[in-house]
This record gives sequence, C-alpha cells and structure tokens, in this order.
Amino acid sequence: MCSLRLSVKALIIFVSFVSLDGASLVAAQSCGSTGLAVQVLGSGGPEGQDKRASTSYLVWQNGSARVVLDAGGGSALRFGESGAQMSQVDVFLFSHFHVDHSSDFPALIFSSWFEDRNRPLPIYGPEGNEFMPSTTEFVHDLFSDPHGAWRYLSDLVEPSTASGGYTLQPHDVAAGSTPVLVFRNADMTVYAVKVIHGAFPALAWRVEIGGKRIVFSGDTNGEGDGLTQLAMNADLFVAHNAVPEGATGVERRLHMPPSVIGTIAANAHVRQLVLSHRMLRTLGKENDTQAEIKRRYSGPILFANDLDCFPVK
Ligand SMILES: [Zn+2]
Repeated sequence: MCSLRLSVKALIIFVSFVSLDGASLVAAQSCGSTGLAVQVLGSGGPEGQDKRASTSYLVWQNGSARVVLDAGGGSALRFGESGAQMSQVDVFLFSHFHVDHSSDFPALIFSSWFEDRNRPLPIYGPEGNEFMPSTTEFVHDLFSDPHGAWRYLSDLVEPSTASGGYTLQPHDVAAGSTPVLVFRNADMTVYAVKVIHGAFPALAWRVEIGGKRIVFSGDTNGEGDGLTQLAMNADLFVAHNAVPEGATGVERRLHMPPSVIGTIAANAHVRQLVLSHRMLRTLGKENDTQAEIKRRYSGPILFANDLDCFPVK
C-alpha cells in the first residue's frame, strides 16, 4: 500500500514538474531575510465578503517561517504568496477548530507533501469537548485510515518512514488560566493559556524567540486574567477585533470588544498591538475601535491586512 502511495506521489510530482512553465509565479511577499516578524496570512473572519483570508499567522526569523498559527480559509494561498515553505516550520499551533481557523489545514498539508520536508511536524491545539474535536481527533479525522476524509495521505499520520520522516504529530494541550510550557527547541519556547470563547475549547499562544515575546489572543471574549498573564511585556500582541464596542448576546460571549482589548494590552504592558480577525461588523469602525483602545492603552495600534508584515524589534 505504501509503495503504491509513493508511486502515486512520484507521478504527481513528475507531472507537476513537467507542467511548470515558471511564467505565472506570484512574487513572494516574505517578511525579509533578517530579523523577527509576524506575517498575517489571513486578517479576516469567517465571512467571504470581507475579502480577506480567514485567520492564519506566520512567525518569521531570518527569512524562515518558524511557526504557523491557525489555517483559516484562503490562508493556504496566502502561505504560498508569502514565500514560506512548510519544510522550514518547527511547530504548528491551533487556537481552536472553528472553520475560519482550521479549514485550509488539509490544503496546506497536501501542499507541503510536495516539499522536501524530512522531519516530523509537531502540531499543538486544544483538547476537545462535545462541540469540537481534540487536536489529535481533528488530525486523525482528516488523514487516518480507514475513516479519514483524506485517508490517501494516511502515511502522514502513521508511524512509518515512508514519507521520508515527515509525519504529523498532533498533541492535545491541557492548559489552564496560567501560562503552561507547551513546546521548546534549541531557540524557541511556546506557552499557552486556556481562553474563553463561548463553549468552544480555545487557546491563546505566546512564542518566545530571539529574545522577544509574541502573543496571539486567538478568539476569546477576554474573560479571566490568563490572557493578560500570557501577554505580559509582549513585544507584539495580536488581538482579534471581531466585534465592535457595545456588542451583546452571542457576539459578546464569543469575542472581546475594543475596550477589553485595550484593558488587556494596557495591563500587560504590551509594546505593540496588532488588530486582526476583522469582520464586516468591525470593518469601517476603525476610528471608534482605536478611540476605545486609546482610552486605556497608549502604545501603537495597527490594523492588519492580508500578508502584512509586522517586524518585532
Ligand atoms: Zn474566528
């Protein structure tokens, strides 16, 4: 079975090489070849009409994409446009499994199958509950034999050397309201806290790399002080601007309004605030959003667009 899959892979790669004319390649929009930066692959929410890819971020260091966080719809294309390679990525993080944070994951993984990645890809995300799969369930529901939707890629999730050492290694993160160490390698450390996003298991993430702290709120209503602890003294804080001030009901139970973003950014003394996950209900209200935040937080406030690059200095 494995050898059949490998020959199919070899054939597909051969066909793609012979059909490549090189004339229509989109210019790479990478974050530069030196220093540390966050690139926003998707700055929108779930709505196609916002004309933005859904949530996804890269952490770049010296021209390599080291971390991918989330993979919402449209982000696999943006990943290609960014010039990033999955073969460079050390770790993949999920904030949660709503469609606008996870639906391009299989597209990204199938794309990476054509690259020369020859080491496992660690994947970390939330535990599951009755509304959402755990991270391990999510990955296995996509790729495992015999029931996975794309089980033709099951070599990627089975212990085997058939894919040249490239396997997906999903982990469920049991996080509480104080930051927990999740991943560490030679020069990077990653922490998570549990955040409240309605009834859906969700995490906020902090990546420490190159002596800097980069924090991603993910989707949350901002309840509790876990996110503030996680974001303490962050050099860059990416927060989700999914609802306007005054939001009520289910919108408010899921998301934090600008006043809450401003309070967290101020209490955590973050050096720069980037607003992403921009939706139809917040687009066009940037002046109000900024004013609410400025009442509480005095640092720079930046609104993200797809492929924007934010240097971390
Ligand atoms: Zn979302």
